[in-house]
Amino acid sequence: MGIAIRLQEVRERIAQAEARAGRIPGSVQLLAVTKTFPAAAAQEAYDAGQRHFGENRLQEALEKIPQLPKDVAWHLIGPLQRNKVRKALEADVALIEAVDSLRTAESISRIAGELGKTADVLLEVNIDGEASKHGFSPADLRIEWEQLAVLPHMEIRGLMCIPAPVDDVQRARPAFAALRQLAEELRARGPLLLPVLSMGMSHDFEVAVEEGSTEVRVGSFIFGTRFYPSHSA
Ligand SMILES: *Cc1c(COP(=O)(O)O)cnc(C)c1O
Repeated sequence: MGIAIRLQEVRERIAQAEARAGRIPGSVQLLAVTKTFPAAAAQEAYDAGQRHFGENRLQEALEKIPQLPKDVAWHLIGPLQRNKVRKALEADVALIEAVDSLRTAESISRIAGELGKTADVLLEVNIDGEASKHGFSPADLRIEWEQLAVLPHMEIRGLMCIPAPVDDVQRARPAFAALRQLAEELRARGPLLLPVLSMGMSHDFEVAVEEGSTEVRVGSFIFGTRFYPSHSA
């Protein structure tokens, strides 16, 4: 179905954006977002060399994980309800990307501690202040940073954002730049290095790379149009 070809095209475009921005080749990781697509589509991407996959909903991830080879790194990119934290940690996902409150972070650290592990996470930031969206406001994140950064069984690897859609991708640039600057500010406060900036999707990943993204989350560009089953909206 052309998945290998489109994957190759995304990789090339990422490389070109890295070059335009004077970044080190290979500094951006491609996450193939397989939500709503069957495990067979993920397998096709795997066969084309893809190893990092993103799923939005835990339940869907849990269905696909056993169907793919063991060396896949699964990233949970959707919001995680606190009553599902234990399940997510037991599934050993590589990265929980959308931690959006101190309370959720505290649950993750506590339950990871009970399970004898450390959870790698990103904090989702509502970078452009869209009222309807998930994520820490930059102001809350600055205030709660000390409490977040010392949670013993949770390692904050960086920040992620999903800016509001814009008709001209150039207008996504300020939001991406703002996330990068916020990460720099928090890094300066220590003690975390925050190497990961997860930003950029099918329509805007090149701009995100130019603005410093280290991980782009690309779904429909690779796998095609998503159709949502009517029962799950
Ligand atoms: C669905 C989704 C993506 C991928 O979106 P595309 O526009 O299909 O590339 C990226 N990030 C998150 C959080 C998503 O839910």
